[in-house]
Amino acid sequence: MSALPELAKRNFTGKVSIVTGGGSGIGAAVADRLSKLGSKVVIVDTNDKDGQSIADAVGCDFIRFDVADLEGWEQLVADTARKHGSLDFLCLNAGIGSRPRGSSVKDDPIPWILSNYKNVLAVNIDGVVYGAMAALPFMERQGSGSILVTASVAGIRTQPPDPIYALSKSAVISFVRSVAPALAERGVQINALCPGSVDTPIQPDDRRLEGRPMSPPEEMAEAIGRILISGDNGGIWIASSSDYPVWRYEFASAIDGPPS
Ligand code: NAD
Repeated sequence: MSALPELAKRNFTGKVSIVTGGGSGIGAAVADRLSKLGSKVVIVDTNDKDGQSIADAVGCDFIRFDVADLEGWEQLVADTARKHGSLDFLCLNAGIGSRPRGSSVKDDPIPWILSNYKNVLAVNIDGVVYGAMAALPFMERQGSGSILVTASVAGIRTQPPDPIYALSKSAVISFVRSVAPALAERGVQINALCPGSVDTPIQPDDRRLEGRPMSPPEEMAEAIGRILISGDNGGIWIASSSDYPVWRYEFASAIDGPPS
C-alpha cells in the first residue's frame, strides 16, 4: 500500500472512537478531527483538567483513565460500547518521555533512566498492548475495527537523548507488525504512525530553543484518520515535518545472513 485514502464523513458518521492521551497535543487534534467528521469520540487521559477542557471544546466525552490499567481497559471498552453502541476506532496515542527537561546526553544517564524506566514502559507499551487486547474481542464480535498506535521515528532510528523512550517505541512497532496477522484473522486492523517532531507539550524546551522544524499536531490527526480507514494492516507509517504527507516504511523481509 503506498497511498492513503482521503478522509470523508461517510467513513466516520455514527462511528465510535476512543482516543488515549486526548487531553493534549496529537490526541486532542485527533479527537477534534474525528469528531468533526461525525464520529462519537471518547477522550481518555490521566490529566482531568486538560482532558475535560478539550472534551468540552470538541463536544465529546472525557473519562479519566490510566492506560496502564489492565482491568480498567475491559471496563472502558464495555462502557463505551454500552453507551454508544460500538467501538470502531481505537487510537492508542498516550505516551511519555523519560528524559528530564533540560538534561543532556553529557549527564549521567543512570539516575533518570532507572527512575523512569518502568513508568515509561507502563504508559508507552502496556497502554498499547492492554488497549489492543481489550478492544479485540469486542471488535471481533462486531466484525470490524481499526486500531492505530502512535509510535515514533525514535523507534526506528536511534534517540540517544532518551533511550527508554526509543526502546518503548521500537517495542510497539514490533508489536504492531507481529500481532497484525492474528488481528486480521478476526477482522481487525492495527497500524502505527511514527511522527517526527510535532509541536506539542511533550517536546523538551531545548528542542524548541534549537529551532528545529516541528509539524503541527493537526497534520498527525489527518494522517491518523487516513490510516484508520486505509484497510492497511501491520503498516508502519512515517510522518515527519520534512516528509509530510505520510509514507509507509518497509522493513527488510528477511535476514539472509552477513553480506557476501
Ligand atoms: P502530549 O504530552 O501533548 O500528550 C500526551 C498525553 O498523554 C497527555 O495528555 C498526557 O496526560 C497523556 N497521558 C500520559 N500518561 C497517560 C496515561 N498513563 N494514561 C492516559 N493518558 C496519559 O504529547 P504528544 O506529542 O501529543 O504525544 C502523543 C503521542 O505521540 C505519544 O505517544 C508520543 O510518544 C507520540 N509522539 C510525539 C512526538 C512529538 O514530537 N510530539 C513525536 C513522535 C511521537
